Amino acid sequence: MADIIQLLPDHVANQIAAGEVVQRPASVVKELLENAIDAKANNIKLLVKDAGKTLIQVIDNGHGMSVTDARLSFERHATSKIRSANDLFQLHTKGFRGEALASIAAIAHVELKTKQAQDEVGTFLTIAGSEIVSQEVTVTPKGTSVAVKNLFFNIPARRNFLKSNQVEFRHITDEFHRVALAHPNVAFTLIHNGSELFNIPKSNFRQRIVNIFGAKTNERLVPVNETTEVLTISGFVGKPEFAKKSRGEQFFFVNNRFIKSGYLNHAISAAFEGLLKDGAHASYFLNLDVPPETIDINIHPTKTEIKFDDEHTLYAIIRSAVKHSLGQFNIAPLLDFDR
Ligand code: ADP
Ligand code: MG
Repeated sequence: MADIIQLLPDHVANQIAAGEVVQRPASVVKELLENAIDAKANNIKLLVKDAGKTLIQVIDNGHGMSVTDARLSFERHATSKIRSANDLFQLHTKGFRGEALASIAAIAHVELKTKQAQDEVGTFLTIAGSEIVSQEVTVTPKGTSVAVKNLFFNIPARRNFLKSNQVEFRHITDEFHRVALAHPNVAFTLIHNGSELFNIPKSNFRQRIVNIFGAKTNERLVPVNETTEVLTISGFVGKPEFAKKSRGEQFFFVNNRFIKSGYLNHAISAAFEGLLKDGAHASYFLNLDVPPETIDINIHPTKTEIKFDDEHTLYAIIRSAVKHSLGQFNIAPLLDFDR
């Protein structure tokens, strides 16, 4: 038989990768916000139309890109964040896979404006279906704006699969909250269909939680702080009497990255044992700082699940730190008739 294997063209490979990276508008939001953070922006604006189905735009005041980098940023595996495989174990950035922009540009119309501080003028690129359609010189402030339009224009099945605007927008606000909570020292704005929903100044972690979840949250927070050799844990848990039936306010950030972990979530439940009414979930906002070489982030394209070297030790430390905090606040177990 003749040889039958071929290398896929770039735009096809990008579209395949996009299937994993971009599940819905909120995935684009996450990738663009994280790029803005990695560019060291301290002011980030997110503009959305129709729950991201027609427009997702992130404007940052970060370090921007040169003309060459702007073009290269849409190539797959093109990244300024790592240079060798060893760097994977010393990550200090959100990104490192170099595939978000390539993936997004494979399945949407993208407009990029970017300028570095030292340059007089910036670059304006339009890209559609992995092709650079136009390139112009433009007057623009330092930083980067990425506008993503007509998401999934060339994948009707994905487009049709999108949920209602209400559901898709909730996913977007979830991502926005996660990034905003992980970076209280950055100012964020969120505008949906022309109305400003959030305009939160640079602040500290406690204030950021209050800015997002409302003033009444403040009195409900119990501080948690503990430093050990393998982990520094800081942040807050919600007082048990305010625990809700929904799991909405549960946040772990590992080295400033929101992560999901059923196992570590269980450590919190264990610390709250006997304190919660049946069916109620504790809320928590906890930062776990660990040496970067003790975690593996590269196990899934969206990076919300990570692997810890020693999960059992972390579990024990988290449980005891939270228990200790609850104890200090004189939060006593419920008596049986209270439940
Ligand atoms: P990754 O973030 O994994 O490196 P991306 O596809 O998200 O991959 O971005 C590719 C590259 O484009 C980044 O490594 C960075 O150099 C550049 N870039 C992307 N977004 C921005 C931004 N908002 N500001 C400055 N540079 C950016
Ligand atoms: Mg990225």
